[in-house]
Amino acid sequence: MENPFYVPESAMAIVAHPDDIEFSCSGTLARWAKEGTRTYYVLCTSGDVGIAQAGMTKARATEIREAEQRKAAEIAGASEVVFLREPDGMLQPTLELRKKLVREIRRLRPEVVITGDPTVVLASSDYINHPDHRAAGIAALDAVFPAAGQPNLFQDLESEGIKAHKVRKVYVTSWEKGDLFVNISDTIDIKIEALRAHNSQMNGWDPEDMVRQWARDYAKGKEMAYAEAFRVIQLVSDEDWEKTKGTVLA
Ligand SMILES: [Zn+2]
Repeated sequence: MENPFYVPESAMAIVAHPDDIEFSCSGTLARWAKEGTRTYYVLCTSGDVGIAQAGMTKARATEIREAEQRKAAEIAGASEVVFLREPDGMLQPTLELRKKLVREIRRLRPEVVITGDPTVVLASSDYINHPDHRAAGIAALDAVFPAAGQPNLFQDLESEGIKAHKVRKVYVTSWEKGDLFVNISDTIDIKIEALRAHNSQMNGWDPEDMVRQWARDYAKGKEMAYAEAFRVIQLVSDEDWEKTKGTVLA
């Protein structure tokens, strides 16, 4: 059973769109950042088809949404935001995307990677999980294991001076089947403020009530007011992590 008070030295969230992190895990990332964790946001797309407005272009939407994401990341104390600029609405878990993600994982060497559950299709009675979310989730998991930790895979990345890295733990953001509930009572306000930074997505709607309700539902029956839910997979034993910090030498 994962320790709910665990705080990694570094964590990388890999998602499809600007605002995905804020909806799913920014309370946890903000809590960790407050405690000294370096947090990295990796956005596969910049949400370039996500603004339905007369005269809106993909280039302009990219600018707007990247600026909103940078602001949201800053509110939650993130260390770095990476935009891979894959096409919004057409994200595919290709080998090319896997390699781009392996590059970021080897470069930034996160202890924990957070991503979405790629198996969720029928998310609820009123929502089908976006295909880009599924693609980002499976691409992230495939980049983490085993690719990022295999020195002879994507060997040319070594010419950039980055070495293979084994991620210690994966946190999969969960809709229903979480086995770890992180107490975000101290950072729920940050989560809401970060979500509000995605102004182009709100159309005058304030996300506060819904976000509080979701977080209360996850916290139900536990000794906390608000929570985020994850499924945790530990890939490197505590003992091995202390020895190598994930670095694999060729
Ligand atoms: Zn999304």
